[in-house]
Amino acid sequence: MSFDRVNYDPKFKPVKGIYEDRLRQFISKGGDYRDLNLPKFYDKQRIVLDQNHVKLTWYQVPFESGSSPVSPDKRPSWESIIKADKNNELKFQNASINQPFGPSWSTTWFKVELNIPQDWVDSGEQLIFQFDCSNEGVVIDPNTLNPQTAFSGNGERTEYLLPKQKNGQYSFYIETGNNGMFGCGEGSTINPPDNNRYFHLQKAAIVWPDWNARGLYIDFWMLGDAARELPDDSWQKNRARTIANKCMDLFDPMDRASVLKCREYIHSEYFDKFSDDDQVYSQGDPNIFTTVYGIGNCHIDTAWLWPFAETRRKIVRSWSSQCTLMDEYPEYQFVASQAQQFKWLLEDHPDFFNKVLVPKVQQSQFFPIGGSWVENDTNIPSGESLARQFFLGQRFFLKYFGIKSDVFWLPDTFGYSSQIPQLCKLSGIDKFLTQKLSWNNINSFPHSTFNWAGIDGSQLLTHMPPGNTYTADSHFGDVLRTSRQNKSSEFYGAGLMLYGKGDGGGGPTREMLEKMRRIRSMSNRNGNVIPKLQVGTNVDGFYQDVLKRTNNGNDLPTWCGELYFEFHRGTYTSQAQTKRLMRLSEVKLHDVEWLATKASILCPDSFKYPVEKLSELWENTLLCQFHDVLPGSCIEIVYKYEAIPMLQKVVNECDNLLEHIQTVLKGNTESSLTVSTLSWQENLGSNVQAPIVPNIEESTDNYTISNGVLNVSVNKNLGTITSIKDINTGTEYIDIENGRNKNGANQFVIFDDKPLSWQAWDTELYSVNQFKYLTDIEEVKVLPTTDGVCGIEVIVKVSEDCKIRTKITLPTDKAKLDETTVDITTTVENWNARNKFLKVEFPVNIRNDTASYETQFGIMKRPTHYNTSWDVAKFEVCHHKFADYSEYTKGVSILNNCKYGFSTHGNLMRLSLLRSPKAPDAHADMGTHEIKYSIYPHKGQLSYKTVRLAHELNYNQKFRISKEFGSQFNNIIRIIGDENVILSNIKRGEDDVIINSPYALKPENTNSMVVRVYESLGGESHAKLITNLPLQRVVKVDNLELEVLEEVNFSKTPSNDDFNIPITLRAFEIASYKFIF
Ligand SMILES: [Zn+2]
Repeated sequence: MSFDRVNYDPKFKPVKGIYEDRLRQFISKGGDYRDLNLPKFYDKQRIVLDQNHVKLTWYQVPFESGSSPVSPDKRPSWESIIKADKNNELKFQNASINQPFGPSWSTTWFKVELNIPQDWVDSGEQLIFQFDCSNEGVVIDPNTLNPQTAFSGNGERTEYLLPKQKNGQYSFYIETGNNGMFGCGEGSTINPPDNNRYFHLQKAAIVWPDWNARGLYIDFWMLGDAARELPDDSWQKNRARTIANKCMDLFDPMDRASVLKCREYIHSEYFDKFSDDDQVYSQGDPNIFTTVYGIGNCHIDTAWLWPFAETRRKIVRSWSSQCTLMDEYPEYQFVASQAQQFKWLLEDHPDFFNKVLVPKVQQSQFFPIGGSWVENDTNIPSGESLARQFFLGQRFFLKYFGIKSDVFWLPDTFGYSSQIPQLCKLSGIDKFLTQKLSWNNINSFPHSTFNWAGIDGSQLLTHMPPGNTYTADSHFGDVLRTSRQNKSSEFYGAGLMLYGKGDGGGGPTREMLEKMRRIRSMSNRNGNVIPKLQVGTNVDGFYQDVLKRTNNGNDLPTWCGELYFEFHRGTYTSQAQTKRLMRLSEVKLHDVEWLATKASILCPDSFKYPVEKLSELWENTLLCQFHDVLPGSCIEIVYKYEAIPMLQKVVNECDNLLEHIQTVLKGNTESSLTVSTLSWQENLGSNVQAPIVPNIEESTDNYTISNGVLNVSVNKNLGTITSIKDINTGTEYIDIENGRNKNGANQFVIFDDKPLSWQAWDTELYSVNQFKYLTDIEEVKVLPTTDGVCGIEVIVKVSEDCKIRTKITLPTDKAKLDETTVDITTTVENWNARNKFLKVEFPVNIRNDTASYETQFGIMKRPTHYNTSWDVAKFEVCHHKFADYSEYTKGVSILNNCKYGFSTHGNLMRLSLLRSPKAPDAHADMGTHEIKYSIYPHKGQLSYKTVRLAHELNYNQKFRISKEFGSQFNNIIRIIGDENVILSNIKRGEDDVIINSPYALKPENTNSMVVRVYESLGGESHAKLITNLPLQRVVKVDNLELEVLEEVNFSKTPSNDDFNIPITLRAFEIASYKFIF
């Protein structure tokens, strides 16, 4: 070959834009040229529903309109349906294309009988059954009852690869749920559901596919993406465009054989020879760092736009599809979190769980991950709840898989408690994965890989996938973004790409796995301007790589304290009833464990520690802490039929247990005494002092009540508290001279609440300045003094049919005088607002840069100013039982029994009470609500007194036990020493043989009690635990009660039989001691 002397055929330089745009034509499934391009050859042959080769019949499970869509009769077991059909008890009718099925939330069964033409079978090629009924479905083998694969509807996941068999006869069932992947939202997915939607049968066909054409589709798609998305100045981009165009030139729509020629051409020019093979991931230059690790997952929201009942079916659909994919793709690895979901699967489909899923776990393809019971909210659950999320989650994983997770997997949640690092550390977890923080709408979080340190200093190696999604489609662009958007690449340049359909479940598809093979192949061949993508390295391998390349994590930047999520601040308040029941459930479970532990020790013959019942109640409580349920972002049926009845049942069953335990402890005898479940007030004795007589003075403007400690003035016109004065010192705690609220404390205020989107989730910054004080007062009256309290009742008119009744009372009981609180009970009657936010304000005579908010086992300090955009973002924050605003010499705490939203700015403290979003639950928070809160004015700074008073407001139930048990009961566990150390919970050791726990892992023939304490205010502290139990050994244990962290010394008190256990706690330390006796 030689260079031509004369040019007779001039060539032009292709115009980049035009040649790039042309590429879309080749694989476009619509448009003008479909039949002139590759899609023409996708099928070799196809037979659509004809009731001969493809026979499809259907059976509708009865569904009475208006009835509960989650009751078990609406979702019969597979076994019962298949058995009934075999007995000819069900009427299956012929189905037709476009036929509607429904209504929403009902179940339709299909029976599929296929009769494949012999020449198709003889080809030996993989054949397909295609199905799309716009809803979610699962293929069930009628012989084994095992799920095979799932259909997602509306074009997503529509193919079942038929197992090869010689006679071409197939018979199987499809169970479909009449909802989409994202529920049945009307108009928009996050709107309230249309409960009368019907789902149309779009596709039912057998297909003999052209696998070469399908292969070329993926090849060309990735090549075209490289041509479009690689940097303009890279030769790889230009070459990809040239090759793709030449491929189109080679293609002949009249000649199927040209497909193979196109494939061979592309492969010879741009891919390595392993592009269709899992070996592709071991090719290429090993000296080049991997920049993207692909991890398969499917985020299944445990309830959201669908109920728990549907999630149970989403799990089996999603996971069975994944197990099938694993057989085809050996490199494929998939992670799934949430012990609850595994438990449901085990209950509903034990054979699939044991015979299919467990082997996949053993073969390191299916990875249970996360360690928590559900992917929980971390703002609102109590400290003990978070501890139990890990306790039950990890113990479940250990029991069924023999492993525990060392990664807390929480891609999607609405805020991150500053105690997560410590609780994880105590639960065998030292790594964290999340993603949602990238949704911040004010400040961009600065790291992708970093060390997150909690308030006690414990740290987690943390990664946020740089692609900013946990549901990537494994597009070329997803891989590029994961590589390019890495904010920590000066320390560590790689990131995780979490791929797979998610939120509504689903998971990775064949197409995603094929695309990733091509992307890696292109990188092997053309260098790493195409990121080096690795599939087949698990999450642990990724974190190990981080440690290896960052000097064991020491080189990484640190983020201290909470990871405040700058979004979804309305979730501290939405769905008030669920939040109130959650607080109550947590309190009741604490009380039951407190009493049951002691009763099981005092009356071992007549009382058995109800561990099975407690596990069940905890499981249900933890389930309702899922990150859409407790925050309030689910549709109405979740609250109405599931979460609220479930939590109400927890409360009722706890009450039954408490009643029973009191009977065991002979609380009904004459000689009984009253006990509490708080260590500092356990034995309340019987020496109740006569209350003092309150003094109520009336002036022109005010009623002033005095109990000898405080003077509290209530304005007769506004019903607000205009003064709280310490009688001895003259200190005034209320400020009505300055700031925006000059009306007084307990002033109700309604804010406009129309966020940009996400109604149940968000309340936006601009709402803060659009408000109206409620000053239409119907009545202000003095209440009769009874039961050791005196007070004033105020009735505030909100609208024609909505009122607020608020009772402001002072204790006159002498025992309570040294820590006097102004107690308020507010009943909002018939709250019926639309997009309004009700709060209550307290203008206080305090000035400080920060306020303190109770969080799990500690406090968080947050700014009371708007200096920086990071401070502005915290215009509404989460708290638990109290918020405190203090100067050096004085302060005010606001305590509550069921609320979580708060803000403190300037001289104004503000407790958030009720919202009224209209989506996704159109009736959220409507109705009547009772809320208790207290104002605690105090000398000096925040102290243990606030912590204790907040406990007393919540753990206020008193119990009667026989005097005979009195001192023994109290002396089982006591604590003395620094008062900021709180003895929070006691329970029986989970592995005590005698209690026979379903979560026991290493049964021990001893008696034990676990005692949880924490340091509540942030300072090293000393205390002594005292017990009358015949101690053999005391150990400090981890949160799972599995690992001994420390042997603890103890000594006998010379004067009696008690044992002393001296303890020292770091600032904000959570410690669990196991007493073995
Ligand atoms: Zn989610």
